Amino acid sequence: MVKEIQLRIPIQEEKFEGILKKKAARFLNIAEKDISAVKVLRKSIDARKSDIVFNYKVAVYIHEQLPEFSEYSFEYKDVTKSKEVHIIGFGPAGMFAALRCIELGYKPVVLERGKKVQERRRDLRAINQFHIVNEDSNYCFGEGGAGTYSDGKLYTRSLKRGDVRRVFENLVFHGATEEILVDAHPHIGTNNLPKIVENIRETVL
Ligand SMILES: Cc1cc2nc3c(=O)[nH]c(=O)nc-3n(C[C@H](O)[C@H](O)[C@H](O)COP(=O)(O)OP(=O)(O)OC[C@H]3O[C@@H](n4cnc5c(N)ncnc54)[C@H](O)[C@@H]3O)c2cc1C
Repeated sequence: MVKEIQLRIPIQEEKFEGILKKKAARFLNIAEKDISAVKVLRKSIDARKSDIVFNYKVAVYIHEQLPEFSEYSFEYKDVTKSKEVHIIGFGPAGMFAALRCIELGYKPVVLERGKKVQERRRDLRAINQFHIVNEDSNYCFGEGGAGTYSDGKLYTRSLKRGDVRRVFENLVFHGATEEILVDAHPHIGTNNLPKIVENIRETVL
């Protein structure tokens, strides 16, 4: 049996190993040994008062094993001989369009006006230090698209317009931390984002 419950864990207790299992057992009035696994579905922090707490939404597996495989899996087969789809730009839209093409058996051919994600750094430095703007490689243009060199918050209002979870799972597949799957305010981080963009390029190439 699987039960979804909400738990509030004070910040001081959060670091204790097994705290979720313990709290879940208490909440459900069952023994800890009856719980096979606790899966975090959503995590947020409530720091409005001096007693800071984490709000967890968890799935409690009672006498039932956690499924081994995620419902999302990504397999990128060789599409070099497949029908071509041309994609202009390797920003988020272009990257995910290219990945989707491969998943559907098409060969994406990406035309990107800017430089590779790591090479963009030099052009950003030129903007900040010398006020020289390369019009093809800057904060907006270049591999990874606009926002690659911001802090990588994963906010969207279009939750009903597509499978956002699939995008997050794919970012994890390409190197993002699994925390983005549960955090209420998921965040990739400026340091991590370029590497993930490189990994996506490797998949596409
Ligand atoms: C500074 C900044 C910070 C941001 N921070 C965040 C954030 O933290 N979280 C968030 O969710 N969103 C953020 N955004 C918004 C986010 O970056 C955009 O919503 C997103 O990049 C749009 O993706 P896109 O693929 O549609 O377009 P773009 O990212 O603009 O990608 C378009 C790509 O096409 C290329 N291109 C353009 N013209 C041509 C051409 N003629 N030929 C070939 N290639 C071309 C460009 O070089 C670019 O790589 C930020 C944006 C900026 C500018």
